[in-house]
Amino acid sequence: MSNDANHSSAGQIVRTTNAGQIIWINVIRRDRGKCVICGEKACDVHEIISRSHFGTRTMHICLSMKNRVCLCRGCHEKAQGQAEWMTKLLQRLKDKYGYDYPEPIFQRYLGGSDGRL
Ligand SMILES: [Zn+2]
Repeated sequence: MSNDANHSSAGQIVRTTNAGQIIWINVIRRDRGKCVICGEKACDVHEIISRSHFGTRTMHICLSMKNRVCLCRGCHEKAQGQAEWMTKLLQRLKDKYGYDYPEPIFQRYLGGSDGRL
């Protein structure tokens, strides 16, 4: 799935070699520039689980599209650092895009308190 970053469905050329920027652009494309929670125009790409939770060996997971969502300002402020929002956002991406989250760092939020799993 991460290989998708090299292909532009919109036919535009991404003039950067910075993987982080490519992912950022692809997250905006994936979410159509709209907040995944309320559908308002997004103002930011949010890291669902912030990089401080990851080590150097797992940083690529932090930087991947499945840990990023477009959010509007209101939802972003609410989501900041809130465990229940991490669960909500991860669940939303799972449902919407069919992502897998087998890594323990995600299971902490998806497995425990969420009875649906
Ligand atoms: Zn929103």
